[in-house]
Amino acid sequence: MTTRLGIIGFPIGHSISPLFQQAALDHYGMDATYRAWEVKPDAVAAFVEGLRSPDVLGINVTVPHKEAVIPYLDEFGNSATGAGAVNTIVNRDGQLSGHNTDGTGFLRALREAGGFDPRGRRVLLLGAGGAARGVALALILEGVSHLTIANRTVSRAEILHKLANVHGITAQAIPLDGPALTLAASTADLIVNCTTFGMSHGPDEKGSPLSSAQIPPTALVNDLVYNPLETPLLREAARAGASTLGGIQMLVYQGAASFEMWTGRDAPVAVMLEAAIRAMEA
Ligand code: NAP
Repeated sequence: MTTRLGIIGFPIGHSISPLFQQAALDHYGMDATYRAWEVKPDAVAAFVEGLRSPDVLGINVTVPHKEAVIPYLDEFGNSATGAGAVNTIVNRDGQLSGHNTDGTGFLRALREAGGFDPRGRRVLLLGAGGAARGVALALILEGVSHLTIANRTVSRAEILHKLANVHGITAQAIPLDGPALTLAASTADLIVNCTTFGMSHGPDEKGSPLSSAQIPPTALVNDLVYNPLETPLLREAARAGASTLGGIQMLVYQGAASFEMWTGRDAPVAVMLEAAIRAMEA
């Protein structure tokens, strides 16, 4: 029996997950296909019900369904409960469990591809949307020494500021411009961009949230934006002499964690990363 896996979203045409997940399945010679399903919001319940079929191992879930799938699942891992969002569903004998691999994917990319351990370090997080929440929670649980959240809408940054405080981490919420941002950047060991600045077809695709003059050469700059592979922020960081890490690594590592849950096998990360980069460069 050919087993089925895939990703749901709306729209979904942009997703490169089918390319690097299929590469991982093929690497092990598994009789399995991973495809993209465009599922309209009013069709989510019926689609999730269909995942209980014995030939389905599980799926990834992306925008805008990460919260919408929750009412239709049977159980949840701690990662999904903490994030309040599901990006991975696993089918075991008709029982559906929900997980979120964004946090572990982010941390593994940071450690393995960025060579950076966030414990005890000062972090500047740019953005306060869905991705920023997952990243903030992962950094808080890792025990960073200080977290600054800079966002255009400061009230959204305040929510993450409070989340940090609840876990005993000192934090501050600031606007995404002005002297407070320059000061926070100058003392950061790690700068993570979770805004859409620099994203192809986004609201400001040529824009960078920081200039090279604001980035210390000792920092690691991790841009979650992966399309394009080299973003305006990463170019500014390189100009400043800082270390850089693109978003494609996190994308692959979150997918690798999903793959391991579905198959019980170690994800072939190098194979997946190569397929993902090839897809982006095509
Ligand atoms: P989201 O929930 O829509 O959040 C968007 C963020 O960008 C918010 O902080 C928003 O600020 C800010 N923003 C949007 N337009 C802006 C503008 N013109 N000026 C200043 N700030 C602006 O999106 P998301 O899901 O968190 O995704 C954010 C980025 O991360 C996207 O580029 C996405 O592709 C990337 N991402 C990458 C991965 C990965 O695996 N590498 C995973 C998830 C997301 P306001 O709050 O003020 O609106």
